[in-house]
Amino acid sequence: MPKRKSVLYPDLKPANRVEYFMYEAIKEAEKALDKRECPIGCIIVKDDKILVRAHNLRLTRGNAICHAEVLAIDKACRKIGDFRLNDCDMYVTLEPCTMCAGAIIQSRIRKVYFGAYEPKSGAVCSCNDIFNVSHGHNHQVEYEGGILEEECAAMMKDFFKMLRSQPISSILRDKDILT
Ligand SMILES: [Zn+2]
Repeated sequence: MPKRKSVLYPDLKPANRVEYFMYEAIKEAEKALDKRECPIGCIIVKDDKILVRAHNLRLTRGNAICHAEVLAIDKACRKIGDFRLNDCDMYVTLEPCTMCAGAIIQSRIRKVYFGAYEPKSGAVCSCNDIFNVSHGHNHQVEYEGGILEEECAAMMKDFFKMLRSQPISSILRDKDILT
């Protein structure tokens, strides 16, 4: 079966394996966008294969913890049958928040690749450095940001532009969409 193409970036050609997996995370983010959710997508990779995919479902489920990363970790733990996601890497389109960074440490993800930096709430390196072992946890998570950064950031920017173009009532309803 042919793989579904990205709607926003149908012509994007990943230059390497890391970009290839981030491109898959972008496709997940598009599923969130389809549901009028903030476009954040996440995949977890093990042994060079996609183990699980997830996207932000906070509004759909009316649940504050339904960030793409937490949903992906939940799926992966169920699939593996262990809370330890040893040798698993995460690809997520936006720098994780504090909650997700904590869940990433707890699940012992090996490395996180993220797309866009989140200057307002990014907990990996922008506003905080949760992965730093000096905070008292003993699992070191590696990370690398800025993978397909332009595409991931544009997706967020366009989403908020779309929200701003809507009537005041829906903007008020959605203005705390990221917080
Ligand atoms: Zn989060």
